[in-house]
Amino acid sequence: MSDRAERLAAVRTRREPPKFRHVAVRRVERLGPRMARLALGGQDLAGLAVELPGASVRLLIPSGGGDELVVPAWNGNEFLLPDGRRPTIRTFTPRHVDAANLELVLDVVIHGSGPASDWAVNARPGAPAAISGPGRGYVIDTDGPAFLLAGDETAIPAISQLLEVLAGSRVPVPVQVHIEVAHPDGRLPLPDHPHAKVEWWDLPPNAPTGEALFEAVRGSNFAPGTNVWAAGEAAAMQRIRRHLFEERGLPRAHATVRGYWKHGRTGDAEATADA
Ligand SMILES: Cc1cc2nc3c(=O)[nH]c(=O)nc-3n(C[C@H](O)[C@H](O)[C@H](O)COP(=O)(O)OP(=O)(O)OC[C@H]3O[C@@H](n4cnc5c(N)ncnc54)[C@H](O)[C@@H]3O)c2cc1C
Repeated sequence: MSDRAERLAAVRTRREPPKFRHVAVRRVERLGPRMARLALGGQDLAGLAVELPGASVRLLIPSGGGDELVVPAWNGNEFLLPDGRRPTIRTFTPRHVDAANLELVLDVVIHGSGPASDWAVNARPGAPAAISGPGRGYVIDTDGPAFLLAGDETAIPAISQLLEVLAGSRVPVPVQVHIEVAHPDGRLPLPDHPHAKVEWWDLPPNAPTGEALFEAVRGSNFAPGTNVWAAGEAAAMQRIRRHLFEERGLPRAHATVRGYWKHGRTGDAEATADA
């Protein structure tokens, strides 16, 4: 087999993501000027189970801002619409699943320049969408002495879940939380945790996304054995990864660092995520 044929064969072996489940918007609530909470519901949500915090789902929304939802087909490599165009699919954190009421809640950052963000601003009850997932979540190391959670606004839903789970541990351990907001209005109340120290960092004007978060992580002191979870803009996460592993010598098993979106690029930074 030629190199090209081998590469194509490798690409075509991608596992098909879970099927899309039809849902409709039930409620939209603004948690703040920069975050919309959407409750999605429908019979298709029966059996959707999200066991771990920090998991993901793919959200399919109508293309081109209309109200007609066409579910794409998996071609062995990617989802495509019948006319060959790429559907509008973005990844979000399943913030709450209410199995009894067949409801899923997503918190969507209103960043002002993307189809999902725009859709969340304008969505009305009854608007159609579809969900596929869940993708991998975070397995909490219950023996760890402490946690450091870091992220930008897109990570607030996952960080909130992690705080809830950590607060419910038999013996809650100290947690440092660092969150960068693109605008001071991005600050939101977080779940209570008896030993959490939460610090919000404003992105200075003209600074690249993630700069304040990187400096916060670099300036933080944490005990050996601390588990680090971080998510946000991909290049910023790459800097944080390098700092943790190369400068601090943090064992790889103690860190989960996920790129959630890419500056200047549409779609999420984990196009291959198994959501
Ligand atoms: C596992 C996972 C979990 C995620 N969970 C959440 C979540 O719970 N809530 C959430 O809001 N997002 C979450 N995200 C991030 C979300 O998928 C991306 O922000 C996505 O790009 C938004 O789609 P969009 O259509 O609004 O913008 P796109 O069309 O993807 O992007 C348009 C432009 O906006 C920029 N952009 C995208 N996101 C942002 C942002 N947040 N701030 C500033 N500029 C941005 C892009 O660089 C691009 O230039 C998650 C991503 C992953 C991989």
